Amino acid sequence: MIPYGRQSISDADIKAVVDVLRSDFLTQGPQVPAFEQALAARVGALHAIAVNSATSALHIACVSLDLGPGDWLWTTPNSFVASANCGLYCGAEVDFVDIDPRSRNMCPEALHRKLTVARDEGRLPKVVIPVHFSGQSCDMAAIGRLAESFGFKVIEDASHAIGADWGNRPVGACAHSAMTVFSFHPVKIITSAEGGMVTTNDPLLAARLADARSHGITRDADRMSQPPDGPWYYEQVSLGYNYRMTEMQAALGLSQLGELDRFVDARHRLAARYDERLRGLPITLPWHDPTGRSALHLYVIEVEEAARLDRRALFDHMRAEGIGVNVHYIPIHLQPHYAARGFKSGDFPAAEAYYRGAISLPLYADLSDADQDRVIAVLTKALAA
Ligand SMILES: *Cc1c(COP(=O)(O)O)cnc(C)c1O
Repeated sequence: MIPYGRQSISDADIKAVVDVLRSDFLTQGPQVPAFEQALAARVGALHAIAVNSATSALHIACVSLDLGPGDWLWTTPNSFVASANCGLYCGAEVDFVDIDPRSRNMCPEALHRKLTVARDEGRLPKVVIPVHFSGQSCDMAAIGRLAESFGFKVIEDASHAIGADWGNRPVGACAHSAMTVFSFHPVKIITSAEGGMVTTNDPLLAARLADARSHGITRDADRMSQPPDGPWYYEQVSLGYNYRMTEMQAALGLSQLGELDRFVDARHRLAARYDERLRGLPITLPWHDPTGRSALHLYVIEVEEAARLDRRALFDHMRAEGIGVNVHYIPIHLQPHYAARGFKSGDFPAAEAYYRGAISLPLYADLSDADQDRVIAVLTKALAA
């Protein structure tokens, strides 16, 4: 089976992990800060806090903004459930903003309209989480302007988008947001097996994130309620979690970070081959926003109504042919856990229409031209009348 995504692991990656296993520290050693500093430098942020997943990263990002009961968090329905669940972890209410069908990202105009209504009703969101779907940044200038005028905080879910740029700035620089979250799950652009990172330029948020990652404990005497009893002394200053990244994960992530540009370039070369060779079929190809450069985590086609096969039939056919296509995403509001909170079919029509046609084709740095040609041939034959 040709998968839709997978990691690329080099001998240097393996050596980096094995070296850690032979070292003194398997956790809380030098690798995590080294990975954090390298990632912060790469994306142009002042601070980076590594954790054990992007899900944890989203959670502590919300915690650091004091999101809680009575507050609202808004995100896009076209994402993985973690983008919304972080709001529920905090006891907040979650709502969604429909997508722009072309970019498949949160639509800034829909956000503006919904904010205007919410202001009249006195239920403006405290936090909005735009998701850079498929690796292509949302219109962050527009979302940042709305954040200024309506007074909410922005957490970018850039789980798909490490290595992407927007408006000549790397995603993660937080030019229009409080924080940015990355994922290092193996299907993403670079991996640490499991892992995530939050970047920010705000030192106060950085300190809160570091506390929340590790039990709310600090060893910084300036932040204690009393002078330390002795060198062993620490204080728990808030309620945190154990969301720490291990040294093996950080060593792998740091080693992978060195390959980031090569991985993203490889994805661009492959996506350009799809763009060229799939033209003319009854499918909608992804739109590439000229305002930035996508990290191309996903290459999603939408099967048009007029196609000979519908989405389900084409999906089944490709799987039967050994091509591990996938679907990103089932709209979050239609998941039973969210439907039970009052959401229903028809609430976010653009995300639902997109979902009905979407198929993610295989795309990863090590995808061979021969395997990609097979994907193209199977797809073309299936759709040709
Ligand atoms: C993968 C993903 C997450 C969760 O990442 P983990 O590191 O697996 O927790 C969150 N949001 C989006 C958009 C994702 O694709």
